[in-house]
Amino acid sequence: MKSLTEYLKFNIKTRRASVNITQQIENLVKKSKIKEGLCLVNAMHITASVFINDDETGLHKDYEKWLEGLAPHSPTNQYEHNKTGEDNADAHLKRQVMGREVVVAITNGKLDFGPWEQIFYGEFDGRRTKRVLVKIIGE
Ligand code: ZN
Repeated sequence: MKSLTEYLKFNIKTRRASVNITQQIENLVKKSKIKEGLCLVNAMHITASVFINDDETGLHKDYEKWLEGLAPHSPTNQYEHNKTGEDNADAHLKRQVMGREVVVAITNGKLDFGPWEQIFYGEFDGRRTKRVLVKIIGE
């Protein structure tokens, strides 16, 4: 069995953003030389997500609006977690909804996506360096 482990770094200048990381993951699959296997991609921070969906600008605005409706950033004093001195309770909740990781099958050396599937890094409390783990295993 072959494997490849890499860490992607992100330093998003805004509090929230989603970044299409599909090409970066595809490059790592190529680098791994694995033809049949699995690719795990997970956020290593509890205020960020990795998720799969369509790369359509309107949809990502809809996510932003929907998540902000579910867990508004302000007023920050509405959250118990923020009594610790943090202001990112909403980011923890948004991350829970959008998920921690994705696993994509590798078939014939390529990510085996359904129609329109793309991989995104979802940031909910940016302006600092965060990491994403990519682990690819197979043969
Ligand atoms: Zn926190």
